[in-house]
Amino acid sequence: MQKNTRCVHSGTGKDPLTRGLNTPIFTSSSFEYLDTAENVYPRYFNVPNQKSVVEKLCALENAEDGLLFSSGMAAISTAMLAFLSSGDHVVLQKDIYGGTHHFVTAEFDRFGIEFTFVNNEAADIEKAVQKNTKIIYIETPSNPLLLVTDIAATAQIAQDNNALSVIDNTFATPINQNPMDLGIDIVTHSGTKYLGGHSDLCCGAVLTRRDLAGKIGATAANLGGSLNAMTCYLLERSLKTLGLRVDKHNRNAQIMAEHLQKDACIQKVFYPGLENHPGHATAKKQMRGFGGMLAFELKSPAPDRFLKNLQVITPALSLGGVETIICSPATTSHQKITAAERAELGITDNTLRLSVGIEDPEDLIADIDRALSN
Ligand SMILES: *Cc1c(COP(=O)(O)O)cnc(C)c1O
Repeated sequence: MQKNTRCVHSGTGKDPLTRGLNTPIFTSSSFEYLDTAENVYPRYFNVPNQKSVVEKLCALENAEDGLLFSSGMAAISTAMLAFLSSGDHVVLQKDIYGGTHHFVTAEFDRFGIEFTFVNNEAADIEKAVQKNTKIIYIETPSNPLLLVTDIAATAQIAQDNNALSVIDNTFATPINQNPMDLGIDIVTHSGTKYLGGHSDLCCGAVLTRRDLAGKIGATAANLGGSLNAMTCYLLERSLKTLGLRVDKHNRNAQIMAEHLQKDACIQKVFYPGLENHPGHATAKKQMRGFGGMLAFELKSPAPDRFLKNLQVITPALSLGGVETIICSPATTSHQKITAAERAELGITDNTLRLSVGIEDPEDLIADIDRALSN
């Protein structure tokens, strides 16, 4: 089955009682246990609505099994902690989601877990690997500057060194990129973004092989970050249109990137679909589409004034919804890391991140042009 067919059909559990076409929402937190193969309970990650969505996501990511979490950070933190002990070491790409960066720097020391942040070049990743390295963690395209990391090369380094490779696939979505096909062990998503897609859900997912999912599930039941049935159902509904939405996000972002690049008020545009982007060749190799996220550096007017003059595009947190939103990473997603670290990553106070929605691109361009000339 092709992608859109999987989005619509995989995992959907028709209602046997009424013959309705949709998975019913099973609200129970208590299930009978006599004569059953496993004990069912929401925090054991095995209630029917969780299973339906996991089956759909597995079909989309070419994974064997997975778990749904109450947020992207619950997914990421649980997936890492399931495999780490005191004395272990983690190699992480430097340019990643601010919350993940903060999770590592704020928590790992207390557990005696070592970590090294590196550039996203395969050679830098390989150089940072130590004897006690357990996990190599990447995010591509990355937040906020859309760096592209070579997924197959990273997976190979992990395999050669007996470490697990973990990727945050939030920006690409399974429509544009399937890391497990390139040898990655564990894929994480903030479902709050494109998977939910309508800026009204908070959830996360881990997709992986069956044995690793079992290990993550054991830790997950202890940490307790499972997802409730209602949100599972909303996520399942959203996923039916994931392919349609992402195709439109891809097309709109390409149009916006090409337009912004021509404007004299803009210093630089970061989008993997542009031929002058340093990761363009790698992106072409490992992605089917370049995604809906882009960043740009404003020369003038001042960012605050520009943001206030927008009428269609909304300055707002988060990303991946049907509506186009914009934010300054320095004051939002990357606020918790120091100004010096931001400078090193190439994030300035004039850097703006655009989550391109599914509106008509003419209206988005008119809005940007009006705000730039105001
Ligand atoms: C938002 C985001 C996260 C964290 O997800 P939450 O659902 O907010 O916990 C992780 N990675 C990326 C790339 C994100 O954009």
